[in-house]
Amino acid sequence: MGWYRRHARVLPWRADPQREDDRGRVDPYHVLVSEAMLQQTQVATVVDYFQRFIRALPTVFELAAADEQRVLSLWQGLGYYRRARHLHRAARALVDQHGGTIPRNAAKLAALPGIGPYTAGAVASIAFQQREAVVDGNVARVLARLEAIEAVIDEPATRRHLWRLAAALLPSRRPGDFNQAMMELGATLCRPRSPACGDCPVAALCRAHQCGLERQLPRRRPRRQPQTVEHHIVAIERGGRWLLEKRPDDGLWAGMWQLPVNETLDGEPAAPALVGWVHSRYGLDIAPPATAANFTHRTTHRTIHFHLWQASTHGGRLRRGTAALWRRLDQLEDLPLANPQRCAITTLQGC
Ligand code: SF4
Repeated sequence: MGWYRRHARVLPWRADPQREDDRGRVDPYHVLVSEAMLQQTQVATVVDYFQRFIRALPTVFELAAADEQRVLSLWQGLGYYRRARHLHRAARALVDQHGGTIPRNAAKLAALPGIGPYTAGAVASIAFQQREAVVDGNVARVLARLEAIEAVIDEPATRRHLWRLAAALLPSRRPGDFNQAMMELGATLCRPRSPACGDCPVAALCRAHQCGLERQLPRRRPRRQPQTVEHHIVAIERGGRWLLEKRPDDGLWAGMWQLPVNETLDGEPAAPALVGWVHSRYGLDIAPPATAANFTHRTTHRTIHFHLWQASTHGGRLRRGTAALWRRLDQLEDLPLANPQRCAITTLQGC
C-alpha cells in the first residue's frame, strides 16, 4: 500500500492516493461507471470515454433517465456494449429501489441487475472501503505468481481459490486501497508478458519470481481458435441518404445501428445474391452492388471478414415494420454504431 500511495496513477475516478485529504472524495457513481468500462479494457483507453460519459450523464439520475441509444452512443468505440446496457439497467434499479443512492453493501449491489460479484466488491471496497475482496484479471495474475499457482487459472476451482486467497490477504484498514494496489501492481509492474520484478515491492514474497517462473505463470487454458466468418455490408443509397437499421436487442452489438449486413451468404457469387437478399429483406430494388472495400474485425471468438458493397436503389418500397431509416452520412451522431460500421461509413465518406 506504501508503493501504491507513491506510484499509483492519478485517474479521474480515483482519489489521489498521495493526498490524505482526497481519500474520502471518491464518487461511488464514478467508481461504478469506471468499473463497468474497465472490464476487458485498459485504463489508457477508458480515461477519455469516462470523462465524456460523466460530462454527458453526471449522476445516476441522468443515466437512469437517459435513452438507451444515448448510452450506447456514449459507449461507441469502447466495445463490449453489453456492459453499457447492464450499467444502464443498474442505474434504473438504483433510482427505483434505492432512491438513486448507491448501496455501501456488496450483497445489495450484487442484487442489482447487471452487477456481478466483481463489480459489487470493487464498488463497495473502493467507494466505501468495505472489506470486500476482488479478483479481476490483474489481481488473478499477481496472486498466481505470488503463490506460484501452477493450476490453470481459468478453471472454476482455481478462480474460487484465488478469491479465497484475496479475501485472506485483505487488510481491515483501507481494504479498497489494498484492492486498487493489487490491481495497479498487475496493470503496471506484474504485466502478463514482461513483469518488472526488479521494481516490484513484493518481489521478496513472490514465489514465482524466486523460482524463475514469473514468465510461465499464470497458466491458462489454450484459447479456442476464433471462427472465421464473412459478412457483407450493403450500403444502399437513395437521393444522398443511406439506409440504416437497428440490430436486434440481443446478441452481438445489440440495439446498435448499422448499414444492412448479410451474415449468412456463403460461397455464392456475392453481387447478384445480394440483389435478391436486399429485395426479399427490405423490399428495395438495387442494381448489382459494386465492391467498395474489404476489412477484418476481430472479436473474442470470431474473425469477421467484412466486404463493403455500395448500391443505389431504383425502386421498391421499404418493407413495413423494418426498424430502419434513411440518413445522410454526416447526420449519424445520435445513432450508436459499432467499430466495423464506423469503418464502413468512413470509407463511404471517402468514396
Ligand atoms: S515479483 Fe514479479 S512476478 Fe512477482 S508479483 Fe512482482 S512483478 Fe509479479
